[in-house]
Amino acid sequence: MQQNVERIVIAGAGQAGASAAIELRRAGFQGGLVLVGDEVHAPYERPQLSKEMLKPGEVTLRAMREEDVYETFSIQLALGTKATHVDAERRRLVMEDGTHHDYDRLLLATGVRPRSLPDADARRVRYLRTVEDALQLREDIEQGHSIAVVGGGVIGLEVAAAVNARGNPVVVIEAGQRLMMRSVDERIARYLDRTHRGRGVDIRYGTQITSWDASGMLTLSDGSRIQADRVLVGIGVVPNTELVAHLDITDELGVRVDACGRTALRDIYATGDVASQPGAGGFARVETWANAQDHAAAVARSLMGDASPYQSPTWFWSDQGMTNLQVLGNAMQGTPVLRGDEHGDRFSIFWLDTADRLTGCSAVNSPKDMAMARRWIRQSAVLEPRLLADLSHPLRDCLALAGATTEEI
Ligand code: FAD
Ligand code: ADP
Repeated sequence: MQQNVERIVIAGAGQAGASAAIELRRAGFQGGLVLVGDEVHAPYERPQLSKEMLKPGEVTLRAMREEDVYETFSIQLALGTKATHVDAERRRLVMEDGTHHDYDRLLLATGVRPRSLPDADARRVRYLRTVEDALQLREDIEQGHSIAVVGGGVIGLEVAAAVNARGNPVVVIEAGQRLMMRSVDERIARYLDRTHRGRGVDIRYGTQITSWDASGMLTLSDGSRIQADRVLVGIGVVPNTELVAHLDITDELGVRVDACGRTALRDIYATGDVASQPGAGGFARVETWANAQDHAAAVARSLMGDASPYQSPTWFWSDQGMTNLQVLGNAMQGTPVLRGDEHGDRFSIFWLDTADRLTGCSAVNSPKDMAMARRWIRQSAVLEPRLLADLSHPLRDCLALAGATTEEI
């Protein structure tokens, strides 16, 4: 343990905050540990908000950990109050209600919030980040409302699929020319377009809402008009960095950290969605469940003095109706090798660098391909593109080393 660290405060009681707190105890930290959050709930998982919580039937909020874990690990939960300011000089986290938490080390895990749509009609617009947002949207769906979804990214498409599955009319309004532009290539986007449309989702590209009238009519920039009782906005996020805006530790993405989660200030670390992390393609926010879990645990170990750089390719999944999509590493750059039929219901695209090393993969309804890709990417495996593209050839035997199987490398 680093010297004189008796008290660690974590700002943000979400997934990353909880993961870090528990890992600190596991790694032997015995000092005071406070997990501060502005939501009233103990840390919970967000993926359920756009999936299970929008389905019919009973809703139960799945907490990150069993209720008594915080007591067992002596983690003080300070919930329901926002942290407004970090006094770095006095090493103090100042809360909205005038109280404060003194720290020796501060871990910022405040996440992100949805980017808001300018000039939206506040009565009809919806966002999706918290359990309250999900319950509100669920109620809208149950009342039979038609829904326009703004943004054809992960959030927009998961919601569109969920609304469509419940039988409500749904239209996706995407400013760009295709779906999920940020994380998948055109073939996957075409597949998503085909399947969502096939199930009855209307998708409009290259357009945006220009006006809302009181009767629920939306006018789009291409001149078309859409009737929508509610408008769910999923157009990306902004980092919750206001509490440290006066400190020189942020960049345009979030709180900038090095490979061990350290900011430019010795006593302050950051993790989860709010962190601008170094990676293969430069600094980026990594807004995934796996990063909130694993990066946070690595930063906790870093706080304990184990400064091993965090290295893990980005991985996320998205469930959109009957489609399970998983994306690993950089699935838009390099040489793509298609395995399976992109016009069917399951296929994968493996991305290789100039030496045929695997650098990324996107898998549609192909979890086994993804499991193999995750293993290979860790091993920097060199693959044989010709074999990879041949479905009759077992995936595990697609390594470039003559005669090698996955077990041998
Ligand atoms: P959060 O979980 O957002 O936690 C941050 C916490 O800090 C929040 O409780 C916030 O209210 C609190 N906070 C913020 N500012 C302050 C302040 N000033 N004072 C006190 N508290 C503060 N990822 C996947 O890989 N697969 C998926 O299928 C998937 N689905 C998702 C579906 C939805 C609807 C959403 C919203 C996200 C999804 N994600 C998914 C992403 C994943 O949930 C996030 O990457 C993860 O929650 C990030 O964890 P975090 O702790 O950094 O942020
Ligand atoms: P999220 O994580 O919220 O799903 P993404 O960044 O993955 O966000 O996707 C957001 C999508 O919203 C992008 O495809 C982007 O082109 C689209 N978008 C951004 N602003 C608008 C807008 N005003 N109207 C329609 N689409 C928009």
